[in-house]
Amino acid sequence: KKAVKQEEELSSKILDKQIYLKDAISSMKHMKKDLEKSNRKLEKIAKYDVLSGLLNRQTLFAMMEVEIERALRTGTPLSGIMMDIDNFKYINDNYGHPLGDEIIEEIGRRLKDSLRKYDLAGRYGGEEFFIILPNTLQSQAYAWAERFRDDLCREPMRKKGHNLLVSASLGIAQFRPGDIRETWISRADQAMYRAKEGGRNRSVIEEA
Ligand code: GH3
Ligand code: MG
Ligand code: MG
Repeated sequence: KKAVKQEEELSSKILDKQIYLKDAISSMKHMKKDLEKSNRKLEKIAKYDVLSGLLNRQTLFAMMEVEIERALRTGTPLSGIMMDIDNFKYINDNYGHPLGDEIIEEIGRRLKDSLRKYDLAGRYGGEEFFIILPNTLQSQAYAWAERFRDDLCREPMRKKGHNLLVSASLGIAQFRPGDIRETWISRADQAMYRAKEGGRNRSVIEEA
């Protein structure tokens, strides 16, 4: 009788422990899910620019290296575009910095909408963006730039009760053998400055 009682007590203890373990495993599974969700959020924060939703400068540079390597390996053309909003200081000064921020947001959206899924766009600086066009000749990049620029300056942005026409200047440079990231960017930047000098709201291809 005593032995049977002891065995019953032991079984009940084991059952308790099993239930406890089951609960612990289940709550650990929940914790793992929460952690994975937080990690995904953190990764997004680390990778993207909060305002424009495009790649941040650091990720942009990393992706440029990836695309340079791919272009060299596969022998495919690679083009880059530096884009700077025209007279942005005027917009900030006359309508306020928060409205300027909304324009950066909208440009980010318009860029994402008009690029192919393997193209990449990032916020290079304050109101400057860099667009990476893999497998694209500079003539094709120019065609894209002109289409984007033309749409941008034709479709007004409705912000805080104002209808604003925003334009941008774009400089196009195709990656060349012997280039590194910095020289590629610098040639796109020079072309963009020529677009500014030429009167803004235009796209310019780098000098041969
Ligand atoms: P340009 O046509 O020659 O490019 O003239 P610009 O006025 O656009 O050029 P400038 O470099 O004089 O001014 C750029 C302005 O962009 C200055 C800066 O205050 C503003 N800016 C930079 N980053 C941000 C931002 O995140 N939000 C807002 N609202 N403004 C920004
Ligand atoms: Mg600028
Ligand atoms: Mg500007």
